[in-house]
Amino acid sequence: MIARVALPIPRAAPFDYEVPPDLAVAIGDRVHVPFGTRHLWGIVVAIAPTATYEGRLLAVEATAGPALSPAAIELIEAVARPSFVSPGLALARLVPSPSRARAREVEPAIPSDDAAKLAAELARRAPAQARVLTAIANGETQIAELRKLPGGARGVSALLRKGVLQPRRFPFSYREEDKAFTLTPAQRAAVEAVAAGIGCGKRYLLCGPPGSGKTEVYLQAAAAARDLGRTGLLLAPEVSLLPQLWARAGRVLGSPPAPYFGELPPGERWGTWHGALAGEVRCAVGTRSAVFLPLPDLGLVALDEEGEPAYKQEEMAPYYHARTVAELRAEREGAAVVLGTAAPSVETYFRAERGDVELLTLPDRVVGAPPEVRVAPRGADVIGPVLQDAIWRHLARGGQILLFVNRLGFYTGAVCRCRAILRCPDCEVPLVFHLSDRAFRCHTCGKTVRNPVCPTCGETRFHLFGAGTERAEHEARRLFPSATVARLDADTARDRDRILASVARGEVQILVGAQMVGKGLDFPRISLVGILNADQLLTTPDFRAGERTYQLVAGAAGRAGRGERAGEVIVQTDQPDYYAIRCALEGDYTGFYTEELAYRKALRYPPFARLVRIVASGAGAEGRAGAVGQNLVHQGFEVLGPARLFPRRGVPRAQLLVRGGDDVVELLAAALPHLPAGLRVDPDPMWLG
Ligand code: ADP
Ligand code: ZN
Repeated sequence: MIARVALPIPRAAPFDYEVPPDLAVAIGDRVHVPFGTRHLWGIVVAIAPTATYEGRLLAVEATAGPALSPAAIELIEAVARPSFVSPGLALARLVPSPSRARAREVEPAIPSDDAAKLAAELARRAPAQARVLTAIANGETQIAELRKLPGGARGVSALLRKGVLQPRRFPFSYREEDKAFTLTPAQRAAVEAVAAGIGCGKRYLLCGPPGSGKTEVYLQAAAAARDLGRTGLLLAPEVSLLPQLWARAGRVLGSPPAPYFGELPPGERWGTWHGALAGEVRCAVGTRSAVFLPLPDLGLVALDEEGEPAYKQEEMAPYYHARTVAELRAEREGAAVVLGTAAPSVETYFRAERGDVELLTLPDRVVGAPPEVRVAPRGADVIGPVLQDAIWRHLARGGQILLFVNRLGFYTGAVCRCRAILRCPDCEVPLVFHLSDRAFRCHTCGKTVRNPVCPTCGETRFHLFGAGTERAEHEARRLFPSATVARLDADTARDRDRILASVARGEVQILVGAQMVGKGLDFPRISLVGILNADQLLTTPDFRAGERTYQLVAGAAGRAGRGERAGEVIVQTDQPDYYAIRCALEGDYTGFYTEELAYRKALRYPPFARLVRIVASGAGAEGRAGAVGQNLVHQGFEVLGPARLFPRRGVPRAQLLVRGGDDVVELLAAALPHLPAGLRVDPDPMWLG
């Protein structure tokens, strides 16, 4: 018997290996094989009676058992092709490696009241155990920290042995109170429509303002899938949105779903993957990579905030979009797909207009009133006078305030007397000053520069400008010294769980956040949202700048007034009449869409064409991109570029854009049977540049 094994190397075709008679090997198994002078792990993608390879065959050395299903292999192969990456590499990157989950955290295995009683009882007899229980009651879950308490190591072991504590099963601590409510007629209609699509591979676009009950629809649809004996997959664009989604899904489904996202420790990631493969996981919650989970009998995929760029993997091939993969799976596996959003991507809304996707609408907020939205000039202050007044008012009334900044760091730029902008020496992008580092940082390569010197004139002092999340936090503390201020952005992401929990408990009065905070979070006490710089995205040279601005403003506005209190939104901008901002302020999606679509049509951007981005990097990047471009032009392709890009880590880069119709990716694959080295192909890019 021959096993065809996809190996994590650039070559596209799998390799034939003999299967020794004493080894049981099936499609989807992970196997260890000799390769040249090396030994590699690969995935068996086919079993055949005879080899296609004519030389001497080597034998499979070992197997680590099943890694994925045949359907998942086909899916990943289909996803690999348009990115010109070998199935073996794609499999190696998308399938987690078997590894054992090691408990790093503990949680009480008994109700918290009983734990408190027990702590009091133990105070005399076993003070170490009492100390551990008290620390846990105060929110400490890390075993390493608990062991630092006097007698902590013994205390933890004893409590685990007695079954008072257990290894923490889930990476989230967010808890939801039990709620029972009846669906609104619009929600019920949406759930019924989606439930009817389970088994038919149908696609739905669920449109509704934030707070209109979309999440409840995904969850009820997942319950409907479960009742039909099928599995469900709930996707969110950011890890920060998962704890709430997970907790709410647990409430509706009666048992917590399995989490899956990139930052999850390998053992837990493999646990969910393997559980899905074994049919034990019936519902999973995750970010974009979870779309590949080998859940059998998939009944429902819900993508919240479908327009979020984070759904596209653009760092490493295969460059997939979770929405596209979800729809591909739905078609193949008969699952219903729900794309939910308050502000659909132009591409998806366009398909809905044409009937490729069924449009479902939740017209109104379920709870709370629509917020009052106002604009204020951006001015010189990070938090301008209008916003300051509003913050005082909301603080006085006990409201929570969310301040939204789209950039990280303290000062987002530095300029020299000679007018030169301080840039990363390797990437040429402007450096950002981070107070936490007391240094400048490149957001592209992470390099820090402590004592910058102007490369043009040798000056060592700079004028610093712009405001990122750190500066907004600093300003909030300075202006409102009596308020509790917290910051949630990529730099504080390690503490995300703790920060979100204290926001939920109402301890944080002002939360300063980057992108991730703008979307999806449901905190009823947030009564005021301030967008500090709505114009920031408009300066990016990207055809989606308008769409992103609309989504930013509309999404952030939705955070306010989810509770009983009427919400207020203040948008600091110097361009209130720009259509994306104006329409977002009015909540007028169709107005925005009409204008945006006309612009896309005039310039032949998606959805009126498909783009493929080809990036050459390394020495002579521009010349190589140019040569490929000429070749493609000769073959009849429409090619834009080559254009020089900012280098990355000192490596020169250049890009081509190929524009075509729906079949442009297949045509390109045929036209470039061998992708020249140092090139990457990104179909349907989210970012150009
Ligand atoms: P969205 O996903 O559109 O932002 P959610 O599903 O998060 O909206 O709903 C907003 C809030 O309203 C949540 O707190 C949710 O629990 C609550 N909610 C949803 N549906 C109902 C309903 N039918 N009746 C009462 N409360 C609801
Ligand atoms: Zn850099």
